[in-house]
Amino acid sequence: MEVAIPLPIRHTFTYSIEAAPPPIGTRVRVPFRREERIGWVVGEHSGELVQGIKPVLAVLDDGPSVPPDLIDLCRWISEYYAAPLGIALKAALPSVLSDVSRDYIALTGRVKQEGLRPREKRLFELLELHDNPQPVRTLRKTLGMGSIWPEIRSLSKRQLIMHRTVPPAEPTAKTRRVVRIERHLESLVQREDAFGRAARQREAYELLEASGGGAELAHLIKKEGFSRAVLKGLEDKGLVRLEDEEVHRDPFARKPAPVAEDLVPTNDQQHALDTLVSALGAPPSPFLLQGITGSGKTLVYIELLRAALERGQSAIVLVPEIALTPQTASRFRAHFGDQVAVLHSGLSLGERYDAWRSLRAGDRRIAVGARSALFAPLSNLGVVVVDEEHDGSYKQSESPRYHARDLAIVRAKAHKAVCVLGSATPSMESWNNAQSGKFARLSLPKRVGGAKLPAVQVVDLRVGRSQTENRPVSSSEGGGVLSEALVTAVRSRLRRHEQVILLHNRRGYSSFLQCQECGEVEECTNCSISLTYHRVTHRLLCHHCRYETQAPNVCLRCSSADLSYRGLGTEQVERVTAETFPEARIARMDMDTTSGKWAHQRILDRVEQGDVDILLGTQMIAKGLDFPRVTLVGVVNADLGIHLPDFRASERTFQLLSQVAGRAGRGKLGGEVLIQTALPEHYAIRAAVAHDFESFATRELHEREGPQYPPWLRLVNVILSSPDQALAAKTAEQGVTWLRRWLDARDVGEAGINLVGPAPSPIERLHRRWRWHFLIKSGSPNLLGHVTTALAAGFKLPSGDVRLAIDRDPVALL
Ligand code: ADP
Ligand code: ZN
Ligand code: ZN
Repeated sequence: MEVAIPLPIRHTFTYSIEAAPPPIGTRVRVPFRREERIGWVVGEHSGELVQGIKPVLAVLDDGPSVPPDLIDLCRWISEYYAAPLGIALKAALPSVLSDVSRDYIALTGRVKQEGLRPREKRLFELLELHDNPQPVRTLRKTLGMGSIWPEIRSLSKRQLIMHRTVPPAEPTAKTRRVVRIERHLESLVQREDAFGRAARQREAYELLEASGGGAELAHLIKKEGFSRAVLKGLEDKGLVRLEDEEVHRDPFARKPAPVAEDLVPTNDQQHALDTLVSALGAPPSPFLLQGITGSGKTLVYIELLRAALERGQSAIVLVPEIALTPQTASRFRAHFGDQVAVLHSGLSLGERYDAWRSLRAGDRRIAVGARSALFAPLSNLGVVVVDEEHDGSYKQSESPRYHARDLAIVRAKAHKAVCVLGSATPSMESWNNAQSGKFARLSLPKRVGGAKLPAVQVVDLRVGRSQTENRPVSSSEGGGVLSEALVTAVRSRLRRHEQVILLHNRRGYSSFLQCQECGEVEECTNCSISLTYHRVTHRLLCHHCRYETQAPNVCLRCSSADLSYRGLGTEQVERVTAETFPEARIARMDMDTTSGKWAHQRILDRVEQGDVDILLGTQMIAKGLDFPRVTLVGVVNADLGIHLPDFRASERTFQLLSQVAGRAGRGKLGGEVLIQTALPEHYAIRAAVAHDFESFATRELHEREGPQYPPWLRLVNVILSSPDQALAAKTAEQGVTWLRRWLDARDVGEAGINLVGPAPSPIERLHRRWRWHFLIKSGSPNLLGHVTTALAAGFKLPSGDVRLAIDRDPVALL
């Protein structure tokens, strides 16, 4: 039978089995090279003639652990994104389902013999230092020798060492011991008979009756004071039975479910809802729900889900990870209670697996979560919602490089489920699809409750700069960071006990350290990226690979002490804000302040309770937050991402500004937005100021006509990386040459496919690897698919450490 193994290998494998082959989707343990691995049965035959077929070691599930529709979806991913099927399956399933075996070796106790080869000797001597069996992987790393399997085999043959394979860990379900009534005693007489003088047994039995027929063993013993003997006595009489019950470890379950607000939909909401509900079961196309910030998109989702549940259907709601706070989750839980499984990155593997099983079993019918919740194992799927569909976090940045929004459409289509893509600022792709009629467009053009979109005002930083240059920065109010207008606006909010959000989309204290003498900028040793200065720790940090080093006091090149801290980061904004408004309670929210599992939530809880006056942070604070007392949003510098060498730089700037502006004035108090920028004339900024999505979209689509970029055509970014700069470059050249030949042989001219590059990637070096890339462009998705598959299957990488990454429909080209 055909088995997919979660490894970066493009094909599946054939294994034999003595018994009847298990159904597709079942996990099996198979021998693979020198390891044991878990794979999934994906078919009866691979079709290829394979020599020396090995037998399956064990069948791990009673039934398929992967529903067949998810296997189909993974096959689609595998083909479309040119990723191995096993890798797609691995991404789609809880990781405990794809663990691998581990090999251990230990000395047998025989004495070392003469005639060992040097490598064998080194391994032997290393083992002599340990009493316990050692993992092969660790030994190999310690020795730095590459594969040590030849040595292991030869030492085993001489019986100097023993080798043991520990099979992959089985996912454990957490259980608790419960006591349940097995036989009911109806009459008093029966009770007298059964208990006689065993009064404690009777008390325990009646307590169980009063608790709905069962209770946790630990509770009965510790809290109620019954002895084990008493409960054993009940069990012996056949009155109760003890059993293990699975516990679901859902952290959100600990929070009490909030009370659902009973809201009457507005006319716009009702209209959208009617259209969506009438499409249940037979949607004509995906829907783009374009609703401005605060227009009440969530209520539309909730009522749609309700209608689907009433029809016995299930639903998936995707939100960007950052917007997935308990605030979001609780809005769904308020309406649907325990029907909701919340999936997010803060979950432990066990918690994730629990949630997965409850969905698989049908105990829960709604999955709310980030990207990977798209793979929720739900049957009878009726609705798939993708909120903030434009968000870049829906794209997975490693293989399989899928886009969850696009997959949502694919999965919904396979189930005839209604697919709703919601956004205030749709992606150019979705907007274009709505314009062309591929998507049906629904719109919520007004905020609910008559609230107005906040007035947006621009503060021109160029004017501010020339003023502050003449005075010492420290004495100027706002520290040269906050303009006078912004300082005044914040102050008035503080006076009125309203809340302020300050956005600065760059963390750390300053984004680079530059020598004033020789111009040297401290760069990461692994990446071609300048190191960010973190003042609290006085360290320099790479935000890509997390390389860290002590901040130097003198230039490392010329030893000058004249170092300047350039490029403003959130730490510095926080300091300046605290100095400017000493009475204010400030909370900073960025990657550095939210490393703990619930840190993110603790900060937002404080804001919600009114314990914070100014919430300051990176794009984390721009999404999804709904705080009615926030009446001012300030953007410290709107231009941070606008010059990035990426075709989506303007789009992202527009989206970020629109999103964060949308946090202001959501309540009755109204709101105002101040955007500090040195580019007030830029169309992305002007459109954000005017809350004018359509004029932005029109201009942006025009910008992408020449040279052409999505949505006018489709892109594949092919990245070749290697620690050896020349090898990366050479392989990229070879890749392009290979492709040109392939295209020539098939007579696919420049009309169908356009190759751009190769060239160094904008970020030339990352994690010690040099990166070269080239683009494959085409107006035809099918043709692009063929070419990509051909490249992945046919282009042979040269020897050496060089990797090929294929990123289809990339969200960024950096
Ligand atoms: P969006 O996601 O579109 O930005 P939300 O769904 O967060 O907007 O809704 C904004 C606010 O409006 C929320 O506090 C929500 O409770 C409230 N709201 C939504 N619909 C209604 C309604 N029909 N009547 C009253 N309040 C509503
Ligand atoms: Zn210097
Ligand atoms: Zn780095």
